[in-house]
Amino acid sequence: MVQHSRLEILGQHAAGETNSADEPAARAYASRVVGPWSSGSDRETVRSLYFHVPFCFHKCHYCDFYSFVDTQDRQQPFVDRLERELAALGRLAGHPTLRTVFVGGGTPSLLKVDLWERLLAALRTHFDMSEFAASAADGADRYAGAEFTVECNPETVSEPLMASLRAGGVNRVSIGAQSFNPRHLKTLERWHDPDSVPRAVELARSAGIARQSIDLIHALPGQTEDEWAEDLDRVLSLGVTHVSCYTLTYEPGTALTARMRRGEIEPAGEDLEACLYEAAVSRLQSAGLSRYEISNFAASESDRSMHNLAYWRQEQWLAAGPSASGHLWRGGSMRGGSWRWKNVPRLGDYLSLDDNGLAPIAELETPDPARLLRERLMMGLRLEEGIDARDFLADTVAIAPDRVERLSEEITSLRDRGLLRSDVRGRWTLSERGLLVADDVAATLMRTLA
Ligand code: SF4
Repeated sequence: MVQHSRLEILGQHAAGETNSADEPAARAYASRVVGPWSSGSDRETVRSLYFHVPFCFHKCHYCDFYSFVDTQDRQQPFVDRLERELAALGRLAGHPTLRTVFVGGGTPSLLKVDLWERLLAALRTHFDMSEFAASAADGADRYAGAEFTVECNPETVSEPLMASLRAGGVNRVSIGAQSFNPRHLKTLERWHDPDSVPRAVELARSAGIARQSIDLIHALPGQTEDEWAEDLDRVLSLGVTHVSCYTLTYEPGTALTARMRRGEIEPAGEDLEACLYEAAVSRLQSAGLSRYEISNFAASESDRSMHNLAYWRQEQWLAAGPSASGHLWRGGSMRGGSWRWKNVPRLGDYLSLDDNGLAPIAELETPDPARLLRERLMMGLRLEEGIDARDFLADTVAIAPDRVERLSEEITSLRDRGLLRSDVRGRWTLSERGLLVADDVAATLMRTLA
């Protein structure tokens, strides 16, 4: 109920720990996608890049992202390999001018400073990072037209790291606070001290990284409305301009799910979940942070995550690192369908297999206009701006008319039930009630195009 904690398309993050020695090595490489895309004469320039740093200090109990505690000190081989992949992607994409870079994990802030400096230099060599240089030159300019975000765990934020990131063009950090309550942090097996969050925000600010976002999780086992209100107050007291509020989900294969199955912890009920979500919307909006996506709130349009908006709007992005997934259009526009691919999650495969720098892939989706429309329903309805109905219907030309008719009937039915609105601008948006069951509404609509 309520909302996913993250994008699920092609596993933006891989499910579970995948370090099994039995896992077969991948046979295909990202060149199967990036090669045909780069040779297309009408390809649209790509403006976004995601890369994944898989290392963590400790495995949190709710986490199914591809991350692990690196006991073998493989940071340096990882960076050697990632440099080669960035070089290959930059070459094939024609040294594009990037507007958004997002580094997720894992814990990117765990990477040693000298290794970070190598990666930042590799970005400058293989991509046109001039937009970020302009933004770095003006420390106060948080509204520069380019966004370079690094995910940080509060306890790993240090002065030298922030200084290096800032010098390399980073202008936004996303800090995983999750909760300020020590008991709930313990349940999640998050090891940071709540006081490390304000310290991390301050270190980022002092280094000139003007935009800070905080991640919170609600519907924690045993969490009360008062405790959640305290978390929201703590985050608001930090004066950050972006907050993400996710509902705790029990993913298959995680330690938290095993504890739940053993009866050691009890998940929050759906009514409480909805109540905590509504409290977040009300409290954050009263403090001037508007919801622009079901789980994301920003102080102004310029404070919204440009990179995540590119995901939700189905734009193109390159991806590097184990388990990273990318998206490229075929034929110069979204209407031609798109490729989605995901690099292998297992670090051993990523390090040892290499196709002129490109990574082996674990999953590939080839262009299919119907799939792209289904994804647009899933992601577009999460956005406050919703979906442009005219554009959407115009893009259904390749779909059998009976399926489009079924879609129209479902839209009418959802509207009659007060879950979906079709506004005067011709956009489909979810009502407040619809937002509480967003995944179900999207699934209903997607089924009509299956
Ligand atoms: S720090 Fe983040 S990526 Fe690492 S184990 Fe915890 S939740 Fe997962």
